[in-house]
Amino acid sequence: MAKQRILACPLCGETQYEQSVCKQCSGKLDPDGLLLAEASFGPWYIRDEDNPFAPGMTYDLLIQKIGEDTLHRFSLVRGPTTRQLWIVAKRVPGIAHLLGRCHRCDEHVDPASLACPMCEVAFGGYRDRDSLGLEGIKSKKVEANGVSSFLGDTAIFETCSKPLTAPTRVQVSKETAHNDSAVSDEPGSPAFRALQRHVDGVKRTNQILMVALGVVCIILVLILMNW
Ligand SMILES: [Zn+2]
Ligand SMILES: [Zn+2]
Repeated sequence: MAKQRILACPLCGETQYEQSVCKQCSGKLDPDGLLLAEASFGPWYIRDEDNPFAPGMTYDLLIQKIGEDTLHRFSLVRGPTTRQLWIVAKRVPGIAHLLGRCHRCDEHVDPASLACPMCEVAFGGYRDRDSLGLEGIKSKKVEANGVSSFLGDTAIFETCSKPLTAPTRVQVSKETAHNDSAVSDEPGSPAFRALQRHVDGVKRTNQILMVALGVVCIILVLILMNW
């Protein structure tokens, strides 16, 4: 009997015998399933003790969870507008108004409204998949219009980014090798080779100067002897 391979689920990390559906997170592990899952990755998290190791999700998937009633006002959420700190959903900018509350003053609001009628804070959506909202860099805010519409699976699939590929070794030109000197200085790295070239250049310059100095000395001696 062929030996079954043991693999870790790429989505939740659960170790298990190789199979097409994860026994822990029910994620589809065939190439199409993983591609679809990758399209849903983003900087937003809903605290879920049943699946604590799930990757973050896109803003649109988070909104879909409101429609499915798996995200409600007292769910714990973290994302670009919370600096990745867990905060109750009704206090989270970008999410609270979709749950009928102003994130700042807790006023009841229409989920389709663009701003709070009480404190006038503007509402918005945060669709930048790559921004964690750290380092004081504000995540790009988009108009709240249309945000309250719930996306289907096809819409999520349309946000699909390029499939992941293994990083390839990039041919580094002489110019970029010089520019990259701060990145890495390990032997064999572009920066190391650039440094080596620089040291070789300095050595050559010194040799030329020494030869020139010798020639000048000989000329001086000859002139003095002729006197
Ligand atoms: Zn899994
Ligand atoms: Zn308000």
